[in-house]
Amino acid sequence: MSGHLVVIGLGPGDACYLTFEADAALKDADVLYGYARYLERIPMRAGQARHASDNREERARATAALGDATQGARVAIVSGGDPGVFAMAAAICEEVEQGPESFRALDVTIVPGVTAMLAVAARIGAPLGHDFCALSLSDNLKPWDLIERRLDAAAGAGLVIALYNPVSQSRPWQLGAALDRLRRHLPASTPIVFGRAVGRPDENISVVTLGNADAMHADMATLVIVGSRETRVVHRPGRTPLVYTPRSVAEVSV
Ligand code: SAH
Repeated sequence: MSGHLVVIGLGPGDACYLTFEADAALKDADVLYGYARYLERIPMRAGQARHASDNREERARATAALGDATQGARVAIVSGGDPGVFAMAAAICEEVEQGPESFRALDVTIVPGVTAMLAVAARIGAPLGHDFCALSLSDNLKPWDLIERRLDAAAGAGLVIALYNPVSQSRPWQLGAALDRLRRHLPASTPIVFGRAVGRPDENISVVTLGNADAMHADMATLVIVGSRETRVVHRPGRTPLVYTPRSVAEVSV
């Protein structure tokens, strides 16, 4: 009997971000795999098994989940945000490509979720209102000099940049180095958004400038949005500012 594997995006935090499709897929599974902190967000269901693992064990988790599915189980593997954005869906695709033939016979479905940059952007206005890109600052799976070249290219091309994985306990200096790199290309007045734990009880959003941005403002639950030369901050009395990138851009400003 051929099993089924579904990779589910849970959104950034609160259950209100879970799509109907994701909710139905979670209810339909015989077994759930995922990082322990993501599994904690999902209500327990009678008869549904769980395999919690460390966040760094993505490859082993993917192999185990695919193995269960080849035995006929309906397997769900969960990610925070969207599973295709710096998360499990790519790990699953790698295993399907490189693993045994039985993995390629499986029915594999990816269920999208609200990724962190969209949740943060929505909280503060529309910083991603024009062309943008997303970069992970983690140099666990790519060299740091490649990250620097991508920062140079993105800032040089006038893109707004969403920075995932800005820091972790084992990567304390990368965000500071990235901000220094960006200062070579962008004015000190460029707006920077720090969106921490969006959609969770300890959510915190702040807007600073590139000139005074301090990497200490970020932790591993923070998504950083670096504006372009067009990105604007609208100050409103008694309200948080609105940060947005206009829909039209003058060629001269890039
Ligand atoms: N698949 C996830 C991203 C995984 S990479 C997604 O689509 O959102 C992990 C990084 O995502 C974190 O270091 C942080 O930069 C960002 N992130 C995840 N959840 C977040 C949240 N609730 N608030 C702010 N940033 C978040």
